[in-house]
Amino acid sequence: MNSLQTSRNLVLEQIKNACELANRSEKDVQLLAVSKTHPSEILQKMYEAGQRSFGENYLQEALDKIEALKDLEIEWHFIGHVQRNKTKHLAEKFAWVHGVDRLIIAERLSNQREASQTPLNICLQVNIDAQDTKDGCLPAEVADLVRTISQLPNLRLRGLMVIPAPNNTQAFADAKALFEQVKSEHAKPEDWDTLSMGMSGDMVDAIAAGSTMVRVGTALFGARDYSV
Ligand SMILES: *Cc1c(COP(=O)(O)O)cnc(C)c1O
Repeated sequence: MNSLQTSRNLVLEQIKNACELANRSEKDVQLLAVSKTHPSEILQKMYEAGQRSFGENYLQEALDKIEALKDLEIEWHFIGHVQRNKTKHLAEKFAWVHGVDRLIIAERLSNQREASQTPLNICLQVNIDAQDTKDGCLPAEVADLVRTISQLPNLRLRGLMVIPAPNNTQAFADAKALFEQVKSEHAKPEDWDTLSMGMSGDMVDAIAAGSTMVRVGTALFGARDYSV
């Protein structure tokens, strides 16, 4: 077994244990491999270990990898900050965009997604613990955004994405409560199935609180080197 397989198995084991502790089915938590800064050869190895969904933060880097790995059946997720003038590439090349936090971004993604493609899956990013340096809409804005965004063609609004400050388990509980609140008011509750929260350091707490998708980089690939 190569080291990427080993680390992936360890992470899957952690997810499984966290699910058991929380009385949840392990099928209800998806592992998104966060591959920013790692070269496409490494992603290919992780793919060969069985991983299919990958999350990227930087658009140009992601586009290069999407091109290099176009023969593989990868589901690409964009988890970085969405800039208004970059939506066209996101709409064309990705299956999921997690960082939508304004109506104008959702409108642009919907307009730029080809009707011949499957709808673009999106999550609404919420600044759940009121950090002033963070992206994301306010919790109080979520209900209105959900109502308007879920009317847009070519998109499927799947749920919420949060990045709370480290060790803020209360924020995970708050995100879960907000997620359930929206679901109870939702016109299409069956579409509202994703709570994207938890990273290498806090995935167990996130799963305990109800995460359905953990975004894991370091625990899968090792530390990132931003100098290259
Ligand atoms: C980089 C990143 C991750 C992965 O973080 P690790 O601590 O390496 O697991 C998850 N989510 C987002 C939004 C990220 O930018």
